[in-house]
Order: sequence, then structure tokens, then C-alpha cells
Amino acid sequence: MVKISLILPLLVLLTLSLTLAPCDCIAQAISKTADGFDLPVSPPMGAGFYKSRGFRSGGHLGEDWVTDGGSAKGFRQPVHAIANGVVVLARDIHVAWGNVVIIRHAWIENRQIHFADSLYAHLDKINVREGQQVGKGQQLGTIGTNHGMYPPHLHFEIHKDLGIGVNHAAGTRDLRSYWLPSDFVLARRHLAGGGRNVPTPAANFLLPTTEHPWYLGRFWHSPKKSTHPKSSKSSASHRSSSTSQKHSSSNKWKVNRYTDP
Ligand SMILES: [Zn+2]
Repeated sequence: MVKISLILPLLVLLTLSLTLAPCDCIAQAISKTADGFDLPVSPPMGAGFYKSRGFRSGGHLGEDWVTDGGSAKGFRQPVHAIANGVVVLARDIHVAWGNVVIIRHAWIENRQIHFADSLYAHLDKINVREGQQVGKGQQLGTIGTNHGMYPPHLHFEIHKDLGIGVNHAAGTRDLRSYWLPSDFVLARRHLAGGGRNVPTPAANFLLPTTEHPWYLGRFWHSPKKSTHPKSSKSSASHRSSSTSQKHSSSNKWKVNRYTDP
């Protein structure tokens, strides 16, 4: 028993490490510093939404936001950029994540420039492209279900560690690598020094390759149309999914096969 419990995680880690590749995301960009942060749903303060699940070190590394009166009401509601920034990831990462957008933000605090990534997952649609500059409150996409896998909600993270991307194993899975998302926002509603152009580091995190176990998802859901121009590169891996499996009515969400990241 003891041996198996040690060997299995090692095997999983080994498999994951062999199937992650550097992101072909944007190179260094110029972006505008944030003049403040808002919540990503119903900005600025998330009226009509509540946090159904919070951040937990070593576990759920973000917050889940749903609509008052039932999460189904939130389906396809807009998701907004929490501050000025540049889109460093906007694509379908498949199982557990679905459509993901990551925005890299710069802001000035205590006379220093700081950087963080905000992550928005399980989106129904993505409305931005990688490399695009976005302003605070700009719509990034809509609340989704990760291809029908979860009830509609926004999974929202803020990364201190810019190397994480969608690979939680790249960080420490605690507050050394992450901010508490809504606490971070509420502490920085209005910032001095916004609107300045600053060089923003390139996105160099690892992404799952088509051989990655997460891509097993292609066997039970059809790929979403990716807004990323290079999406055709991975289309060969999606040959098995020919039939379109649309999100149907709101009361037919599939049972979770995976834990929401
Ligand atoms: Zn979540």
C-alpha cells in the first residue's frame, strides 16, 4: 500500500513532465500599468455573483464565482479583465480547464513595478486573442461549463509566479506562488501610476502537448473553435471527435470527471 501510494504520484509526475512543452505564447510586450483592479464578473464589485468556492493552499488554487440564485443563470454571462494588461494565453486547454484566458498585469506599488497573471477558466467563448492589449473591464469571454463538464462558473486565479500558466505543478501551490484572488483585487481597487507603458515579460510557461493525458478529453467532447491562429497545428489530434456535442440545456451538466483546478 505504502509503495503504491508513493509510486503512483511519481509516475503521474513523470508522465506530465514528458508531455509539457514551452508555450508558443507571446514574446515580451509593452503593456499599460493598471490604474486599479475590479472583480472579473459584474465589475467593479461582482453584484449578483458570489464566491461559491474559495482558495485553498495545496488544493483549489483559485476562486469559483457563480450567480446568485443558481449557477445556471450565469451561463454565458460576460467575464471581464480585472485590470489593464496583455493577453498571454487564450486557447482551449481541454480537460479540467477548457477555454482559458490569462492576462499579464503590471502595476506600481511602493514605487516598484510588479507583475501578476490573472487566469479565467472554463469559458464558453473567448473574445480576445494572444498578444492583445486589454483594458480594465474589457470583456474577455463568457462563463461556461468546460465543455459541459461542470455547472456554469468562472474559475479565477491570480498568480504571483509568472511561470505557472495552466501548470499548477510549476508553482508552490500556496501563497508564495498565488494571490488570494478577491482579496488581491479589493486591496488594489484604485492605484496611482496607471496607464504607463512598461515592458512586460514574455510568457514562458509550459503547456500540455497533444500527448498530454489531459488531451484524453478529445475522446468525449468535441474541440471548441480556438481563437488562436495556430490552433490548426493540433487539429490532427482531434480527428476522433467528429460529432458536435453542444452545450445543451442548463439542467444537463455532466457529472464531474475531474476536479476543477
Ligand atoms: Zn475552481
